[in-house]
Amino acid sequence: MRATVLIFALAAAAWAGELPGQSIRRALFELKEMDMHLHAGLERGAGLDPWLDLAVADGRKVIVVLDHLELYRPSDRKKTFAVTYPTGPAGHKALMDDLDALAARRKDVILFKGWEVYEGELDTGVEPDPMRMADVIGWHISPNHSGQPPDGGTLIKRIRQILEIQKRFPVPMIVFHPFTMRLEHIQRKAKAAGRDVKAILPGEYRFFTARQQAEVAHLLQGTSVYIEISNAQAQYINDPACREALIADIKSLVEAGVQFTVSTDNHSVASAKKPFVPVEYTSLYGVTPFNTNTIVRELLAMKAKRGLIRGASGK
Ligand SMILES: [Zn+2]
Repeated sequence: MRATVLIFALAAAAWAGELPGQSIRRALFELKEMDMHLHAGLERGAGLDPWLDLAVADGRKVIVVLDHLELYRPSDRKKTFAVTYPTGPAGHKALMDDLDALAARRKDVILFKGWEVYEGELDTGVEPDPMRMADVIGWHISPNHSGQPPDGGTLIKRIRQILEIQKRFPVPMIVFHPFTMRLEHIQRKAKAAGRDVKAILPGEYRFFTARQQAEVAHLLQGTSVYIEISNAQAQYINDPACREALIADIKSLVEAGVQFTVSTDNHSVASAKKPFVPVEYTSLYGVTPFNTNTIVRELLAMKAKRGLIRGASGK
């Protein structure tokens, strides 16, 4: 019994921002230097380089550039975009080639490429070939789950599925924007019912029960699955009830050692021109460079290793 208590105490200490290799501050990226979710395909707001220039001008040093995978299926390409990529394998390749060329020519920012994949594909099956082209996969958590908002139960199910599918696609994976999707759903429904959004109580917004938080922390400890703290949170923290729920939902995960990502999820030039100040909300939860750099370190190691393999094969 005493040994168990000691192990838990040691584990708790290990998660209190004291992961190995983090004592040299210069080895960490600051929050606003990272964007692990920037739309750079069909939905990008400008030409690739001007689009990246906006992010770099605001201080970004490491970015995951991505697009929605479903937009490359003819049945899901419902609107036309200013940017053109073909559908199907030709489109996947054209986008990834563009992002590779961009990463090779930009010396002012470190780029990784990815896909944002709809969470429903965890149930219905994924498209393996494009998935294998990505450095990172982000799972789009939807605001709508059979008429209900996402919650702790739906997220735990998804995390289990993600951990399983990661065995086939061994790259870092991110659960995209779970918390704000719930807030968005609840507010939309309240407005539709003629309810005053300000009258919604924090308990209604709460994503997790304490037991679910413990389970999420247990499932994610030591894995390469991250939870996104997206910039959409900036608009919700001004509502006291949303703010209280976000703090209660996220802070316990932080204390239990869950690793996060920060991101803009920018699609438009107008949003890319606004300064990205994640500390406005991350400071409420205790999310810092210490619990958001793990994915970057992992991606850098994988990139270096790929270079080594290419070097050895003379390509
Ligand atoms: Zn997105």
